Amino acid sequence: MQTQSTQLGEFDLIQRFFKTQSERMLINHSGAIALGIGDDCALIHSQPDQEIAITSDMLLEGRHFFAGANPQWLGWKALAVSLSDLAAMGAKPLGFTLAIALPKVDSIWLEQFSKGLFEIANQYACPLIGGDTTAGPLNICITAFGSVSKGKAIKRSGALEGDDVWVSGTTGDARLALAALRHEIDLVNTDLEVIQSRMHQPRPRVELGLALRDVAHSAIDISDGLLGDLKHVLKQSSMDAEIFLDQLPKSAVLLKQNIQLQNQYAASGGDDYELCFTAPISQREVIKKLSVDLTLPLTLIGSIEPMKGATPEICLLDSRGVKLPQAQVNPLLQSFNHFA
Ligand code: ADP
Ligand code: MG
Repeated sequence: MQTQSTQLGEFDLIQRFFKTQSERMLINHSGAIALGIGDDCALIHSQPDQEIAITSDMLLEGRHFFAGANPQWLGWKALAVSLSDLAAMGAKPLGFTLAIALPKVDSIWLEQFSKGLFEIANQYACPLIGGDTTAGPLNICITAFGSVSKGKAIKRSGALEGDDVWVSGTTGDARLALAALRHEIDLVNTDLEVIQSRMHQPRPRVELGLALRDVAHSAIDISDGLLGDLKHVLKQSSMDAEIFLDQLPKSAVLLKQNIQLQNQYAASGGDDYELCFTAPISQREVIKKLSVDLTLPLTLIGSIEPMKGATPEICLLDSRGVKLPQAQVNPLLQSFNHFA
Protein backbone atom coordinates (compact mmCIF):
# COMPACT_ATOMS: atom_id res chain seq x y z
CA MET A 1 0.00 0.00 0.00
CA GLN A 2 1.28 3.50 -0.77
CA THR A 3 1.50 6.14 1.92
CA GLN A 4 3.27 9.47 2.19
CA SER A 5 6.36 9.72 4.32
CA THR A 6 9.15 12.17 4.85
CA GLN A 7 12.93 11.59 4.83
CA LEU A 8 13.45 7.84 4.54
CA GLY A 9 10.78 6.43 2.21
CA GLU A 10 8.42 3.62 3.10
CA PHE A 11 10.37 1.00 1.14
CA ASP A 12 13.78 2.17 2.37
CA LEU A 13 12.42 1.96 5.90
CA ILE A 14 11.13 -1.58 5.39
CA GLN A 15 14.41 -2.64 3.81
CA ARG A 16 16.60 -1.10 6.51
CA PHE A 17 14.74 -1.97 9.69
CA PHE A 18 12.82 -5.12 8.78
CA LYS A 19 13.75 -6.87 5.52
CA THR A 20 17.52 -7.21 5.91
CA GLN A 21 17.25 -8.87 9.30
CA SER A 22 14.31 -10.95 8.19
CA GLU A 23 16.36 -12.34 5.30
CA ARG A 24 19.21 -13.12 7.65
CA MET A 25 16.82 -15.07 9.88
CA LEU A 26 15.28 -16.96 6.99
CA ILE A 27 18.66 -18.39 6.06
CA ASN A 28 18.65 -20.18 9.41
CA HIS A 29 14.92 -20.84 9.83
CA SER A 30 13.87 -21.25 6.24
CA GLY A 31 12.29 -24.68 6.80
CA ALA A 32 8.64 -23.69 7.03
CA ILE A 33 8.78 -20.38 5.14
CA ALA A 34 8.62 -20.67 1.35
CA LEU A 35 8.68 -16.90 0.74
CA GLY A 36 9.32 -13.95 3.07
CA ILE A 37 9.14 -10.16 2.68
CA GLY A 38 9.05 -8.66 -0.80
CA ASP A 39 6.07 -10.02 -2.70
CA ASP A 40 2.33 -9.45 -2.31
CA CYS A 41 2.09 -12.32 0.16
CA ALA A 42 4.42 -14.46 2.21
CA LEU A 43 4.19 -18.21 1.71
CA ILE A 44 4.25 -20.91 4.38
CA HIS A 45 4.76 -24.55 3.38
CA SER A 46 1.63 -26.49 4.25
CA GLN A 47 1.98 -29.95 5.69
CA PRO A 48 -0.83 -32.49 5.59
CA ASP A 49 -0.51 -33.61 9.22
CA GLN A 50 -0.28 -30.08 10.70
CA GLU A 51 -2.70 -27.31 11.57
CA ILE A 52 -1.72 -23.63 11.47
CA ALA A 53 -2.41 -21.60 14.61
CA ILE A 54 -2.98 -17.89 13.89
CA THR A 55 -3.14 -15.05 16.40
CA SER A 56 -3.25 -11.23 16.14
CA ASP A 57 -2.53 -8.60 18.76
CA MET A 58 -2.61 -4.85 18.61
CA LEU A 59 -0.54 -2.51 20.77
CA LEU A 60 -1.71 1.11 20.87
CA GLU A 61 0.20 3.99 22.35
CA GLY A 62 -1.60 5.41 25.36
CA ARG A 63 -3.65 2.24 25.79
CA HIS A 64 -1.23 -0.68 25.93
CA PHE A 65 1.93 1.31 26.58
CA PHE A 66 2.88 4.79 27.76
CA ALA A 67 3.65 7.47 25.18
CA GLY A 68 7.43 7.66 24.89
CA ALA A 69 7.89 4.02 25.97
CA ASN A 70 11.32 2.47 25.38
CA PRO A 71 11.15 1.29 21.73
CA GLN A 72 13.42 -1.71 22.30
CA TRP A 73 11.11 -3.05 25.01
CA LEU A 74 8.15 -2.31 22.80
CA GLY A 75 9.60 -4.37 19.94
CA TRP A 76 10.16 -7.25 22.35
CA LYS A 77 6.73 -7.09 23.92
CA ALA A 78 4.84 -6.68 20.63
CA LEU A 79 5.98 -10.14 19.56
CA ALA A 80 6.04 -11.65 23.07
CA VAL A 81 2.27 -11.34 23.51
CA SER A 82 1.61 -13.19 20.24
CA LEU A 83 4.16 -15.92 20.98
CA SER A 84 2.41 -16.35 24.31
CA ASP A 85 -0.86 -17.09 22.48
CA LEU A 86 0.91 -19.69 20.34
CA ALA A 87 2.39 -21.18 23.52
CA ALA A 88 -1.06 -21.47 25.10
CA MET A 89 -2.22 -23.62 22.17
CA GLY A 90 0.92 -25.75 22.14
CA ALA A 91 1.90 -24.37 18.72
CA LYS A 92 5.46 -24.07 17.42
CA PRO A 93 6.23 -20.59 16.05
CA LEU A 94 6.62 -20.43 12.26
CA GLY A 95 6.74 -16.71 11.54
CA PHE A 96 4.90 -13.40 11.97
CA THR A 97 3.75 -10.32 10.10
CA LEU A 98 3.99 -6.77 11.38
CA ALA A 99 1.50 -4.01 10.50
CA ILE A 100 2.77 -0.75 11.90
CA ALA A 101 1.55 2.86 11.85
CA LEU A 102 4.24 5.44 12.62
CA PRO A 103 3.66 9.14 13.30
CA LYS A 104 7.00 9.91 11.60
CA VAL A 105 10.12 8.15 10.36
CA ASP A 106 12.40 8.34 13.38
CA SER A 107 15.51 6.28 12.55
CA ILE A 108 16.69 6.09 16.14
CA TRP A 109 13.29 4.87 17.33
CA LEU A 110 13.05 2.34 14.49
CA GLU A 111 16.57 1.06 15.11
CA GLN A 112 15.73 0.34 18.75
CA PHE A 113 12.30 -1.08 17.99
CA SER A 114 13.73 -3.41 15.39
CA LYS A 115 16.50 -4.45 17.80
CA GLY A 116 14.00 -5.57 20.46
CA LEU A 117 11.77 -7.20 17.86
CA PHE A 118 14.53 -9.29 16.28
CA GLU A 119 16.04 -10.13 19.65
CA ILE A 120 12.91 -12.04 20.63
CA ALA A 121 12.26 -13.26 17.07
CA ASN A 122 15.71 -14.89 17.06
CA GLN A 123 15.34 -16.33 20.55
CA TYR A 124 12.14 -18.08 19.58
CA ALA A 125 13.13 -18.84 15.96
CA CYS A 126 10.13 -16.91 14.62
CA PRO A 127 11.04 -14.85 11.53
CA LEU A 128 9.28 -11.71 10.27
CA ILE A 129 7.74 -12.67 6.92
CA GLY A 130 5.67 -9.65 5.87
CA GLY A 131 3.55 -6.75 6.99
CA ASP A 132 2.37 -3.26 6.20
CA THR A 133 3.77 0.17 7.00
CA THR A 134 1.77 3.37 7.12
CA ALA A 135 1.82 6.87 8.62
CA GLY A 136 -0.51 7.46 11.57
CA PRO A 137 -0.73 7.40 15.37
CA LEU A 138 1.68 4.78 16.72
CA ASN A 139 -0.01 1.39 16.46
CA ILE A 140 1.67 -2.00 16.24
CA CYS A 141 -0.22 -5.06 15.09
CA ILE A 142 1.42 -8.46 14.90
CA THR A 143 -0.04 -11.64 13.47
CA ALA A 144 1.88 -14.77 14.39
CA PHE A 145 1.62 -18.21 12.82
CA GLY A 146 2.43 -21.49 14.50
CA SER A 147 2.12 -25.16 13.65
CA VAL A 148 0.65 -27.95 15.67
CA SER A 149 0.01 -31.60 14.78
CA LYS A 150 -3.61 -32.19 13.74
CA GLY A 151 -5.88 -32.47 16.75
CA LYS A 152 -3.08 -31.74 19.25
CA ALA A 153 -3.74 -28.03 19.90
CA ILE A 154 -4.53 -27.36 23.57
CA LYS A 155 -7.88 -25.58 23.69
CA ARG A 156 -9.69 -23.63 26.37
CA SER A 157 -12.61 -26.00 26.03
CA GLY A 158 -10.83 -29.17 27.15
CA ALA A 159 -10.87 -28.94 30.97
CA LEU A 160 -12.36 -32.05 32.60
CA GLU A 161 -13.80 -32.71 36.06
CA GLY A 162 -11.05 -33.74 38.45
CA ASP A 163 -8.25 -31.99 36.51
CA ASP A 164 -5.57 -30.21 38.48
CA VAL A 165 -5.21 -26.48 37.77
CA TRP A 166 -1.60 -25.38 37.27
CA VAL A 167 0.12 -22.08 36.67
CA SER A 168 3.65 -21.43 35.41
CA GLY A 169 6.15 -18.94 36.87
CA THR A 170 4.76 -16.29 39.19
CA THR A 171 1.83 -13.93 38.69
CA GLY A 172 1.16 -10.34 39.73
CA ASP A 173 4.63 -9.00 38.92
CA ALA A 174 3.70 -6.95 35.86
CA ARG A 175 0.84 -5.40 37.85
CA LEU A 176 3.27 -4.56 40.65
CA ALA A 177 5.61 -2.91 38.13
CA LEU A 178 2.71 -0.82 36.85
CA ALA A 179 1.89 0.31 40.40
CA ALA A 180 5.54 1.25 40.93
CA LEU A 181 5.70 3.20 37.66
CA ARG A 182 2.55 5.06 38.69
CA HIS A 183 4.24 5.85 42.02
CA GLU A 184 1.48 4.06 43.93
CA ILE A 185 4.10 1.83 45.53
CA ASP A 186 7.76 2.39 46.43
CA LEU A 187 10.25 -0.29 45.47
CA VAL A 188 14.00 -0.29 46.01
CA ASN A 189 15.91 0.00 42.73
CA THR A 190 17.00 -3.63 42.51
CA ASP A 191 13.42 -4.85 43.02
CA LEU A 192 12.12 -2.32 40.52
CA GLU A 193 14.54 -3.58 37.88
CA VAL A 194 13.54 -7.23 38.34
CA ILE A 195 9.86 -6.46 38.32
CA GLN A 196 10.03 -4.03 35.39
CA SER A 197 11.63 -6.61 33.15
CA ARG A 198 8.66 -8.87 33.91
CA MET A 199 6.40 -6.11 32.57
CA HIS A 200 8.46 -4.95 29.61
CA GLN A 201 10.12 -8.19 28.53
CA PRO A 202 7.79 -11.06 29.30
CA ARG A 203 9.12 -14.54 28.35
CA PRO A 204 6.44 -16.38 26.41
CA ARG A 205 6.26 -19.99 27.64
CA VAL A 206 6.63 -21.55 24.21
CA GLU A 207 8.68 -24.57 25.32
CA LEU A 208 6.20 -25.31 28.08
CA GLY A 209 3.28 -25.09 25.64
CA LEU A 210 4.97 -27.56 23.30
CA ALA A 211 5.69 -29.97 26.15
CA LEU A 212 2.08 -29.79 27.36
CA ARG A 213 0.56 -31.02 24.10
CA ASP A 214 0.18 -34.57 25.31
CA VAL A 215 -0.18 -33.65 28.98
CA ALA A 216 -2.69 -30.81 29.43
CA HIS A 217 -6.43 -30.95 28.75
CA SER A 218 -6.78 -27.17 28.45
CA ALA A 219 -4.63 -24.04 28.62
CA ILE A 220 -4.76 -20.25 28.40
CA ASP A 221 -2.07 -17.59 28.63
CA ILE A 222 -2.50 -15.02 31.36
CA SER A 223 -2.83 -11.62 29.75
CA ASP A 224 -5.71 -10.07 31.67
CA GLY A 225 -5.38 -11.69 35.12
CA LEU A 226 -5.09 -15.29 36.35
CA LEU A 227 -8.59 -15.84 37.71
CA GLY A 228 -10.32 -13.83 34.98
CA ASP A 229 -8.46 -15.82 32.33
CA LEU A 230 -9.18 -19.11 34.12
CA LYS A 231 -12.84 -18.14 33.93
CA HIS A 232 -12.60 -18.24 30.11
CA VAL A 233 -11.43 -21.85 30.37
CA LEU A 234 -14.29 -22.66 32.73
CA LYS A 235 -16.88 -21.04 30.44
CA GLN A 236 -15.69 -22.92 27.38
CA SER A 237 -15.40 -26.18 29.30
CA SER A 238 -18.65 -25.71 31.31
CA MET A 239 -16.86 -26.37 34.60
CA ASP A 240 -16.31 -24.76 38.02
CA ALA A 241 -12.94 -24.52 39.76
CA GLU A 242 -11.71 -24.54 43.32
CA ILE A 243 -8.57 -22.48 43.82
CA PHE A 244 -6.38 -22.24 46.93
CA LEU A 245 -5.63 -18.55 47.29
CA ASP A 246 -2.51 -19.26 49.38
CA GLN A 247 -1.06 -21.43 46.64
CA LEU A 248 -0.79 -18.71 44.00
CA PRO A 249 2.90 -18.50 43.07
CA LYS A 250 4.42 -15.13 43.95
CA SER A 251 7.84 -13.65 43.29
CA ALA A 252 10.15 -12.63 46.15
CA VAL A 253 9.46 -8.98 45.32
CA LEU A 254 5.68 -9.38 45.44
CA LEU A 255 6.00 -11.29 48.73
CA LYS A 256 7.40 -8.12 50.35
CA GLN A 257 4.05 -6.35 49.88
CA ASN A 258 1.10 -6.58 52.26
CA ILE A 259 -0.96 -9.75 51.91
CA GLN A 260 -4.07 -8.05 50.46
CA LEU A 261 -2.07 -6.48 47.68
CA GLN A 262 -0.15 -9.73 47.05
CA ASN A 263 -3.38 -11.65 46.58
CA GLN A 264 -5.02 -8.93 44.52
CA TYR A 265 -2.12 -8.69 42.08
CA ALA A 266 -1.38 -12.44 41.89
CA ALA A 267 -5.06 -13.26 41.29
CA SER A 268 -6.07 -10.48 38.95
CA GLY A 269 -3.01 -8.56 37.71
CA GLY A 270 -2.66 -8.56 33.91
CA ASP A 271 0.31 -8.78 31.54
CA ASP A 272 2.03 -11.80 33.13
CA TYR A 273 2.05 -14.06 30.04
CA GLU A 274 2.37 -17.18 32.14
CA LEU A 275 0.32 -20.26 31.23
CA CYS A 276 -2.59 -21.53 33.28
CA PHE A 277 -3.43 -25.11 32.32
CA THR A 278 -5.41 -28.09 33.52
CA ALA A 279 -4.23 -31.69 33.47
CA PRO A 280 -5.36 -35.02 34.92
CA ILE A 281 -3.95 -36.01 38.32
CA SER A 282 -2.11 -38.88 36.58
CA GLN A 283 0.21 -36.29 34.98
CA ARG A 284 1.48 -34.78 38.26
CA GLU A 285 4.89 -36.46 38.15
CA VAL A 286 5.35 -35.63 34.46
CA ILE A 287 4.58 -31.98 35.18
CA LYS A 288 6.96 -31.86 38.15
CA LYS A 289 9.72 -33.27 35.98
CA LEU A 290 8.89 -30.76 33.26
CA SER A 291 9.28 -27.97 35.79
CA VAL A 292 12.79 -29.20 36.61
CA ASP A 293 13.74 -29.69 32.95
CA LEU A 294 12.56 -26.20 31.98
CA THR A 295 13.80 -24.59 35.24
CA LEU A 296 10.38 -23.00 35.44
CA PRO A 297 8.17 -23.24 38.53
CA LEU A 298 4.89 -25.03 37.82
CA THR A 299 2.47 -24.71 40.71
CA LEU A 300 -0.64 -26.72 41.47
CA ILE A 301 -3.26 -24.17 42.56
CA GLY A 302 -6.58 -26.03 42.56
CA SER A 303 -8.93 -28.35 40.74
CA ILE A 304 -11.68 -28.46 38.12
CA GLU A 305 -15.12 -29.26 39.52
CA PRO A 306 -18.48 -30.01 37.88
CA MET A 307 -20.53 -26.89 37.25
CA LYS A 308 -23.11 -26.41 40.00
CA GLY A 309 -25.03 -23.35 38.81
CA ALA A 310 -26.06 -21.87 35.47
CA THR A 311 -22.69 -20.16 34.98
CA PRO A 312 -19.15 -21.31 35.81
CA GLU A 313 -17.83 -20.23 39.19
CA ILE A 314 -14.44 -20.03 40.85
CA CYS A 315 -14.55 -20.95 44.51
CA LEU A 316 -11.59 -19.53 46.46
CA LEU A 317 -10.37 -21.51 49.46
CA ASP A 318 -8.13 -20.50 52.35
CA SER A 319 -5.22 -22.63 53.56
CA ARG A 320 -7.58 -24.86 55.60
CA GLY A 321 -9.79 -25.46 52.57
CA VAL A 322 -12.54 -23.16 53.89
CA LYS A 323 -14.47 -21.19 51.29
CA LEU A 324 -13.74 -17.44 51.36
CA PRO A 325 -16.74 -15.10 51.62
CA GLN A 326 -17.95 -13.78 48.27
CA ALA A 327 -17.26 -10.14 49.24
CA GLN A 328 -13.59 -11.03 49.56
CA VAL A 329 -13.59 -13.01 46.34
CA ASN A 330 -15.28 -10.58 43.94
CA PRO A 331 -12.44 -8.02 43.70
CA LEU A 332 -9.98 -10.84 42.98
CA LEU A 333 -12.01 -11.91 39.98
CA GLN A 334 -11.85 -8.50 38.30
CA SER A 335 -9.69 -8.91 35.26
CA PHE A 336 -8.85 -6.33 32.63
CA ASN A 337 -11.59 -5.39 30.16
CA HIS A 338 -11.02 -2.68 27.51
CA PHE A 339 -14.65 -1.59 27.44
CA ALA A 340 -15.52 -1.89 31.13
P1 ADP B 1 1.34 -4.35 -0.95
O1 ADP B 1 1.12 -2.96 -1.44
O2 ADP B 1 1.31 -5.38 -2.03
O3 ADP B 1 0.46 -4.71 0.21
P2 ADP B 1 3.58 -3.30 0.40
O4 ADP B 1 4.11 -2.33 -0.60
O5 ADP B 1 2.72 -2.77 1.48
O6 ADP B 1 2.84 -4.43 -0.38
O7 ADP B 1 4.79 -4.10 1.07
C1 ADP B 1 5.87 -4.57 0.29
C2 ADP B 1 6.46 -5.78 0.98
O8 ADP B 1 6.99 -5.38 2.24
C3 ADP B 1 5.46 -6.88 1.26
O9 ADP B 1 6.10 -8.13 1.10
C4 ADP B 1 5.08 -6.66 2.70
O10 ADP B 1 4.70 -7.87 3.33
C5 ADP B 1 6.38 -6.12 3.28
N1 ADP B 1 6.20 -5.20 4.42
C6 ADP B 1 5.59 -4.00 4.46
N2 ADP B 1 5.62 -3.45 5.69
C7 ADP B 1 6.29 -4.33 6.47
C8 ADP B 1 6.64 -4.38 7.85
N3 ADP B 1 6.31 -3.40 8.70
N4 ADP B 1 7.30 -5.46 8.30
C9 ADP B 1 7.60 -6.47 7.46
N5 ADP B 1 7.31 -6.50 6.17
C10 ADP B 1 6.66 -5.44 5.65
MG1 MG C 1 0.22 -6.15 -3.25
